[in-house]
Amino acid sequence: MKIQVVSKILDANERIAVENKEAFDRHHVFVINLMSSPGAGKTTLLEKTISQLKDSISIAVIEGDIAGVDDAMRIEALGIPVVQINTGGYCHLDAGMIRDAFNEFDLTKTDLIFIENVGNLVCPAEFYMGEDIKAMILSITEGHDKPLKYPTMFQNSSVILINKIDLKPHLDVDIDKIKTDIKKLNPSAVIFEVSCKTGEGLQGWIDWLKTASTSKRL
Ligand code: MG
Ligand code: ZN
Repeated sequence: MKIQVVSKILDANERIAVENKEAFDRHHVFVINLMSSPGAGKTTLLEKTISQLKDSISIAVIEGDIAGVDDAMRIEALGIPVVQINTGGYCHLDAGMIRDAFNEFDLTKTDLIFIENVGNLVCPAEFYMGEDIKAMILSITEGHDKPLKYPTMFQNSSVILINKIDLKPHLDVDIDKIKTDIKKLNPSAVIFEVSCKTGEGLQGWIDWLKTASTSKRL
């Protein structure tokens, strides 16, 4: 019985996700589901990325958190549309939450939507919400064992950012092992080594993003 209930929830989620995707496609909006553990740097990555792109690309953000509005306030300070979802305890976003949120945006005037998922390395990767791609951040402070311990998120993400590389001298972390294990799980993943703090490596990600979001507008 329990399994039946779970699959019904997933079926309902999938139906709404397909409708979301149709709306995004109709308006040529490129949508990224950004996932990571708590504290890996999702909001900081968004701040750096949006600052560089907001004059050339029209961006909106959906912020997912269990509670609080801190992240939405950081994004709002950049002068772009943002909706904060408080899940009230749920550990991931789902398609219904996203449908309610993006209805606040004018999709005809939007090129790119970032969905910052709830910080959690497990179930966010299992809920499709209608996004074009999933992207994830792994902070090197989390250790090099994470890809093999939490394979689903690494398998489902088209882009993986390895963040906080400025901290490498202080850590016993094997970044080559992280990359090798990601390639085993997901050979086509695009990997960027970055420091959102110093800006190192971010240009590659920004260029990739420009190309990806532009391709949907053509
Ligand atoms: Mg955040
Ligand atoms: Zn969850």
